[in-house]
Amino acid sequence: MQIRGSTRLAGILGYPVSHSLSPLMHNAAYAAMGLNLCYVPLPVSPEGLGSAIAGLRAMQFLGANVTIPHKVAVTGHLDRLAESARRVGAVNTIVNEDGSLVGHNTDGTGFIRALEEAVAVDYSGAPVLLLGAGGAARSVAMALADRGVPRIAIVNRGRARADELRQALKDKHPSLPVETRLLDADYNDLTAAAKIIINATPAGMSERLKSELIAVDSLSEEQIVCDLVYSQTQATPLLLAARAKGAKALGGLGMLIHQGAEAIRLWTGSTPPVEVMKEAIESQ
Ligand code: NAP
Repeated sequence: MQIRGSTRLAGILGYPVSHSLSPLMHNAAYAAMGLNLCYVPLPVSPEGLGSAIAGLRAMQFLGANVTIPHKVAVTGHLDRLAESARRVGAVNTIVNEDGSLVGHNTDGTGFIRALEEAVAVDYSGAPVLLLGAGGAARSVAMALADRGVPRIAIVNRGRARADELRQALKDKHPSLPVETRLLDADYNDLTAAAKIIINATPAGMSERLKSELIAVDSLSEEQIVCDLVYSQTQATPLLLAARAKGAKALGGLGMLIHQGAEAIRLWTGSTPPVEVMKEAIESQ
C-alpha cells in the first residue's frame, strides 16, 4: 500500500485497540480492491471520545468502526443514527456523509451473513436461545427476529439488560414470543428446545466459566451453536462441546469479517473480497 497525499483514512475507535484484527483485514481488502484508503487503529479513552469524533470530522475520515467501550457512548456525538443503529442503541460503523457523521450498526447483518455462509437456515423453524443481552446480543436478536424466527429466549447474568432487550424486540415484533431467564437459573429446557444457540457474552473462554454456560448434555446434532467470541482457532469450550455432540458449531470470526465487509460497503459502495479478509486474519 502506498500512502499518498490523496489517501483517505478510515480506522477503529476503541480502548484498547492493540488486539484488533480489523486493521489487518481492512487494509488487505483495500489493497485487493485497489482503493486509495488506509485503515488505522485509533486508541481513544472514554474521556477523549468527543474530541476524537470531532477529529474524524476535521480530518475528513471516510468513516470509522467503533468497538468496546464506545459503541453506546458514541451515539451522543454523531449527527444522525441510521435505523440499524437506532434500534440496537449502539454504533459499530460511522459513515462520513460530506461532513455529517452517521452511525450504523453492521453486527446483525454480519452475523446473518456468516450464519448463512456456514449453514442453510430455515428461520421459521428455528427457535433461538441467546446467552447475553449486551450490544452484540441486541444486534443478533433484532436480525433474527426480522428474519422470522418463531421465538427467542434470552438468558442473561443480570435482569436489567435482558428486560430491555425483551422490550426492544416486542416493540418491533409485538407477536414474537420472548422469554427471559437469569444465567444462574436452570435453562436446560430452553437449550434443548432451541435450534440456534448463541453465546453473546465474553464468558466461556476460560476453564472457570466453560461449564457454567450450557449443559452440554442438552445439545444435539440438529442444533446450530454460535459463539460470538472471536478466537483464531474457533475452538472455545462451547464450540468444542457442540462439535463433540455433532451440532454445527460457528465461531465469531465469520461475523467479524462480515460486519467489516458491510462497513466497507457503506463507505465505498463496493463489495469487498471476504476471502481476502479471511486469509489476512488466518495468516496471523
Ligand atoms: P456488552 O455490550 O458489554 O455485553 C456483554 C454481555 O455479556 C452482557 O449481557 C453481560 O451481562 C454479559 N456478561 C459479561 N461478562 C459476563 C460473565 N463473566 N459471565 C456471564 N455473562 C457476562 O458486550 P458486547 O459488545 O455485546 O460483546 C459480547 C461478546 O460478543 C464479546 O465477547 C465480544 O467480543 C463479542 N462480539 C463479537 C463480535 C464479532 O464480530 N464476532 C461482534 C461484537 C461482539 P450483564 O447484562 O449482566 O452485564
